[in-house]
Amino acid sequence: MREYTEDYDQASALLRQVLALLGRHHIPPDPRAYAVFYDYLAGTDEGLRRAVDERLARGGWNAEDTRELFERFVHQHDSQVVTAVHSGLRKILQDLLERVLASASDFADYAINLDDFSRQLHEVGDRDLLASLTGDMVAHTRGAQASNSALQEQVEDTSEEVAALRAELARVRRQARTDPLTGLANRKAFDESLAEWLAQSVETGEPLSLLLVDIDDFKSFNDDFGHLVGDKVLKFIAATLTEQVKGRDVAARFGGEEFAVILPETGHEGAEKLAEQIRSVIERSRVKRPEHEELVRKVTVSVGLATSVGGDACESLIERADAALYRAKRDGRNRIRRD
Ligand code: GH3
Ligand code: MG
Ligand code: MG
Repeated sequence: MREYTEDYDQASALLRQVLALLGRHHIPPDPRAYAVFYDYLAGTDEGLRRAVDERLARGGWNAEDTRELFERFVHQHDSQVVTAVHSGLRKILQDLLERVLASASDFADYAINLDDFSRQLHEVGDRDLLASLTGDMVAHTRGAQASNSALQEQVEDTSEEVAALRAELARVRRQARTDPLTGLANRKAFDESLAEWLAQSVETGEPLSLLLVDIDDFKSFNDDFGHLVGDKVLKFIAATLTEQVKGRDVAARFGGEEFAVILPETGHEGAEKLAEQIRSVIERSRVKRPEHEELVRKVTVSVGLATSVGGDACESLIERADAALYRAKRDGRNRIRRD
């Protein structure tokens, strides 16, 4: 959650504008929608502004849009955990540094004592004095040894703690990039991967293809069989995509009932073959209701395919795949169209 720095008057003015905007677009003013549009109007996040503008322009704002934008731009629970882990690490390292400094000063004292001892050794003729000096030196040495082993223990404890925090950080990072229902890469991870692979494709001159895979008539599927069966279908499509792609290909949940597959170093022809493979595997499969043996009706997908031409931006590639997907729907669904 971002820091809210608006004063009473600014926040009240935003409140009125948010309600007016929600009303104008018939968006239910639930707390998530309120938070999304409050940040949108406060203009604190350029990414949020673009995402909201895009969806408002598209029309037909729905609850899924609110949920997705809230998770992506407002909630950001995971980044708070990451911050907590970072400050934990900083504290551990600071403690360790203090211990090292204290130990270094113990060693400095020890060195001074050693120096004194060697000087006095030259001067003593008396055996008793020599014995007592040697005794002192043994005590000093033990002290330095104890301080050294305490430091060693501290270093060992610290590296265990650091390893545990690292594992936690890796888990949170993975979770922040994963769609919880399907286990696929989420939209955030997809956006990052696409930008990286596009940059790579400009560098190497290799083509890159993108598939947008949208379930056909999924709304009526949910209406007829319920959301739980709907969710099962989403998991099934995700598993099919995972099975069909390999190596560096990235399968992601793009949003709602729409999936995306990034195919690095793949031109139109290869991408179309894979799209056809995905489409036909899904068409031939049958989903059962949970705890029923009865088959539910067949599920099909439409696919929009776009291949990058030098210097494509993420947005233009997605737009072309989306336009191709729209044509696949218009031409009767359960088919592939390409840019
Ligand atoms: P089209 O063939 O044109 O794509 O029709 P459609 O019904 O699939 O498309 P539409 O965009 O009208 O509806 C998408 C539906 O997907 C609406 C929503 O109920 C459903 N949906 C989106 N996310 C989820 C989800 O997480 N779980 C379930 N069960 N349904 C979802
Ligand atoms: Mg659909
Ligand atoms: Mg859709």
